Amino acid sequence: MSSPPLPLPHLALIGAGITSLTLSLRLTSLGIPHTIYEQSPSLTELGAGLGFGPNAARALEYIDPRLVEIFNQTATFVGTPSPQGKELLLQEGKAGDDKIWIEFLDGTKQPEEGEELKPEFVIRAGNNKGHAAVHRGAWLDVLGGLVDTRERVRFGKRVVDVVLPAGSKGRVKILLADGTEAEADGVVGCDGVKSKVRQVLMEALGEGREKGKCGYSGKYAYRCLVPWGKAVEAVGEDRAGVSSLWMGPNRHLLTFPVDKQDEKFLNLVAFVTDESQVWPERGPASLTLPATKADALGDFEQAGFSDSVLQLLKVTNEKMDKWGLYDVADRPLSKFYSGRIMVIGDAAHASTPHHGSGAGFCMEDIAVLGALFEEAIARQRLTVDALEDVFAAFDNQRRERDQWLVNSSRRAADLYQWRIPEFLKPNSLEKMKADIEQRQEFCWGFNVGAAVREAKKHMSERLAAYK
Ligand SMILES: Cc1cc2nc3c(=O)[nH]c(=O)nc-3n(C[C@H](O)[C@H](O)[C@H](O)COP(=O)(O)OP(=O)(O)OC[C@H]3O[C@@H](n4cnc5c(N)ncnc54)[C@H](O)[C@@H]3O)c2cc1C
Repeated sequence: MSSPPLPLPHLALIGAGITSLTLSLRLTSLGIPHTIYEQSPSLTELGAGLGFGPNAARALEYIDPRLVEIFNQTATFVGTPSPQGKELLLQEGKAGDDKIWIEFLDGTKQPEEGEELKPEFVIRAGNNKGHAAVHRGAWLDVLGGLVDTRERVRFGKRVVDVVLPAGSKGRVKILLADGTEAEADGVVGCDGVKSKVRQVLMEALGEGREKGKCGYSGKYAYRCLVPWGKAVEAVGEDRAGVSSLWMGPNRHLLTFPVDKQDEKFLNLVAFVTDESQVWPERGPASLTLPATKADALGDFEQAGFSDSVLQLLKVTNEKMDKWGLYDVADRPLSKFYSGRIMVIGDAAHASTPHHGSGAGFCMEDIAVLGALFEEAIARQRLTVDALEDVFAAFDNQRRERDQWLVNSSRRAADLYQWRIPEFLKPNSLEKMKADIEQRQEFCWGFNVGAAVREAKKHMSERLAAYK
């Protein structure tokens, strides 16, 4: 007679952002019990656009097929407007589309009266490399609608510490700001850029909590959604309808269209290299400072940007937040886990957003972690003891690629902001284009199916050695 299946370990997910809720869907489909602790009183996301590359879109297939369906219905397919384009975005290794991803413009060039604004070069989303954007808040609502949040999420629970058991036995303790405690067999930190779990992990890895804090990248960004009519007024329908990146000295501006239900917007993000290189933090969780349209205009005017760029900034809201861009470039983790604590998503690899891929890599993380859990369950080995093996296998497969994004993203911004001397020589535009293409290919071309197969193989080998 075969023995009954072992009870699966209970996980605590810290944070209820995009990573956590998406992971929750996958864990639920595998029957893994888990509870989510979120500091805010409800689900919160920005009213801003979120670019999803083909790697992100394909990862959704391995996480939850319902997400693919909703993504197809709600995403704005930039440069891939046909239904065929959507399929191409999702199909692995199928060559085809040759639509535009981003048009790169010289932000300091002023076209003559009646002259068209022309890009310096165009990065194509060819060979299966489409691109789409979702509205952040709307996407979080989609996830919140699929996860049983009443059952799963403890809102208003800020985690202040996580305590590993002294030996290999015992439960992990989660200490909360309201003075209460919770326990779990394992903890997955999905608590974003300012992750508390990363700090706990850094200490467990012998490097001290301070090193687990993210650092200021020396750049900030103004972000807002411009109502479509105003955007068209500023730059015309054709320019507003494609993704555009205006390059220039120490600044760049990115725009792409995004839909929220029946409303259309232009997502605008204006990036600035901060001369002071110091972000005046107002508190431990503060990444934003209040700012105005005049501040943004001043920053771009002073750097010599053209009227077209200034025109776009003039149609933004009077009040705009200014975001300090933080990442872990200077303080990478030497491991994504210790014992039965691990980090995933921005908690593991918070990055600046210059490859438009932070969330996409979070989706890849989840596809891989889900495959590892699935294999351990299939082998009837997902015990409390085996959690560390799952976490170690995740670290083995994801850390190098995730940290690449962090480093490469910083460099991408310096490239767009004409800060890398080797790209400032005459005729270096072709070289710049090739450089961007090669790096985007590394983001988009990721074979999620192969990574999932590799994860299962790796897990099965680990568990075979595990008597
Ligand atoms: C300006 C900008 C533009 C971007 N654009 C793109 C893009 O186009 N494409 C892309 O793929 N990515 C983009 N990104 C990156 C993307 O936003 C992130 O990678 C993604 O949101 C990370 O999700 P997450 O769930 O891991 O973290 P978060 O979204 O930060 O969620 C963390 C959650 O944890 C909670 N939390 C934090 N601390 C605690 C605690 N101690 N206790 C309990 N709860 C806690 C928070 O309240 C939050 O709900 C961009 C980022 C920025 C800054």
